[in-house]
Amino acid sequence: MPDSAPTTQRVRPPEVDRVAASRAAVAARRARAAVKSDLATGARSPVAVLNAALADPAGPEGTLRITDFLMSLKAIGATKTAGILQRLEIAPVKRLGGLGKHQRERLKEFLVDRFERNARPGGEAQRPSRLTVLAGPTAVGKGTVARHIREHFPDVLLSVSATTRKPRPGEVDGVDYYFVDDATFDRMIADHQLLEWAKVHNSHRYGTPRAPIERALAEGRAVLLEIDLQGARQVRAAMPDAMLVFLAPPSWDELVRRLIGRGTESPEEQHRRLATAKVELASQDEFDARVVNSTVAEAAREVVDLMQVRARRPRRAATSSGR
Ligand code: 5GP
Repeated sequence: MPDSAPTTQRVRPPEVDRVAASRAAVAARRARAAVKSDLATGARSPVAVLNAALADPAGPEGTLRITDFLMSLKAIGATKTAGILQRLEIAPVKRLGGLGKHQRERLKEFLVDRFERNARPGGEAQRPSRLTVLAGPTAVGKGTVARHIREHFPDVLLSVSATTRKPRPGEVDGVDYYFVDDATFDRMIADHQLLEWAKVHNSHRYGTPRAPIERALAEGRAVLLEIDLQGARQVRAAMPDAMLVFLAPPSWDELVRRLIGRGTESPEEQHRRLATAKVELASQDEFDARVVNSTVAEAAREVVDLMQVRARRPRRAATSSGR
């Protein structure tokens, strides 16, 4: 390089270079749009795109902004993206190829947990399913989350189970459960009226009436079952396409606090339920997705997003959408 060559001085590139640069920018934008479209259609998995980004930070995957990346994924919209980025401690302006070591690790863990765990062989991890099962340990708040969905997302049909237990104060027959006696429950089993049934907590029997579910599915409606682990396993066996969502507590201590705090069980019953909860928590790997129940509204929204149902929400709240 000659001594006189300018080193720091800004030089306006010749016209021909500017044209080339702008063409290159357009091509790069197109390549990134193709990556986003592949993510949205499920043609490429999020982890595969992340791996490509890390292998070539200057390539279309590497130069993709983390915000655009997340918003291309199914069931993740603007609101959810902001929350995820906050949790993963990643600035929204970051590009995939420019993530720090720990940020990459946290992002990969999130993606595997959310999209790849138990992806069915030959199938798509993100394929929408019309039948969704919400299960999880005792006292995690399944019932509360399910009720919130029933009240705020009327597009989702929440299955009403039959049970042999007696109604609690405020519970309505046909809304919370169909309260039936043992003979009726026996008859429902014998007549194959139940999609699944189980004796829960070694006390009462609970079962999912088959007919309303089949009718709703035939009409293309999204159906949610809030049932126990034994029931979830039976549904998986009977309907392999069903999506199983595990509702997890923020921590074990929080689960214990919720169980004891609600004060509806005797100390012996609490002990028994916590023992069951340990077994249930160990079953998480059998599920397609995991939602942490930190707040009811957020957990409900996540479940519904997974079901990919567009919520018909009250007008006042209809400003920010998860998608
Ligand atoms: P609870 O008596 O507190 O309403 O419900 C007790 C448990 O029964 C909960 O874990 C709930 O998920 C489960 N359960 C409710 N309905 C059904 C059902 O139809 N089938 C199965 N297997 N479990 C159910």
